[in-house]
Amino acid sequence: MTKNWTRTRKPTFNKDSALHMDNIAKTVFKPIYPVIVSNALEITGICRGKCLDLGTGPAMMAMAVARALPEMSVTAFDFSEGAQEIAEANICEAKLEKRISTAFGDVHDMPFEDQSFDLIISRGSMFFWDDLKTAFAEIIRILAPGGATYIGGGFGSLALREQVIKDMAKVDPNWNCYAKKEGDTEAHRRFDLMFEQLDWETYQVIDDDTGFWVMVTRPA
Ligand code: SAM
Repeated sequence: MTKNWTRTRKPTFNKDSALHMDNIAKTVFKPIYPVIVSNALEITGICRGKCLDLGTGPAMMAMAVARALPEMSVTAFDFSEGAQEIAEANICEAKLEKRISTAFGDVHDMPFEDQSFDLIISRGSMFFWDDLKTAFAEIIRILAPGGATYIGGGFGSLALREQVIKDMAKVDPNWNCYAKKEGDTEAHRRFDLMFEQLDWETYQVIDDDTGFWVMVTRPA
């Protein structure tokens, strides 16, 4: 077992990897997105306003939010042109263009106004960010008063996690996801230290069967 799965890694995000993610998201991962959105809603309590999906890939989280929360408009954000093309095609095919727009850029320097999003979500992207402190400073900057984040990774429940691991073994025996690894005992301490350096006190780290998630809140 490899430890420290919350440390950042550096894969290449190109057209091929975006297509691969699209395939997995539409098959093996398909059931996880509505469950994660329902968990996010339960823990944050935010169901209206503006939502941002960071590292959206094929936009499955963004689409699950749009479907579950009719009073929410969604921005699907990614720094991969391949991912953005696929996200736009998926949003169009689902006829969700009026609810979801796409935006291109890097989480470390985002093209959004201060305090402009009520709910900031992200699944399976944070583990690839180069500099978590810079990224979270940006996230805090654009989080609206009364807003919250649900950022991290996981599969929504223990049953879904086990199912995904079983199914992925058939699709890609070399798949080496953090889901198969031990939790990182240092992760909480690293986030505590990071938020201390950012001088931000309102946050919670969730590390359970739903996955590993960081909820940052901005008081109303
Ligand atoms: N969230 C999607 C899902 O769960 O189906 C996609 C997850 S995929 C493993 C990771 C995504 O994060 C990729 O689409 C990648 O381009 C994006 N990403 C990674 N680093 C990023 C960054 N610094 N800024 C914006 N997007 C990033």
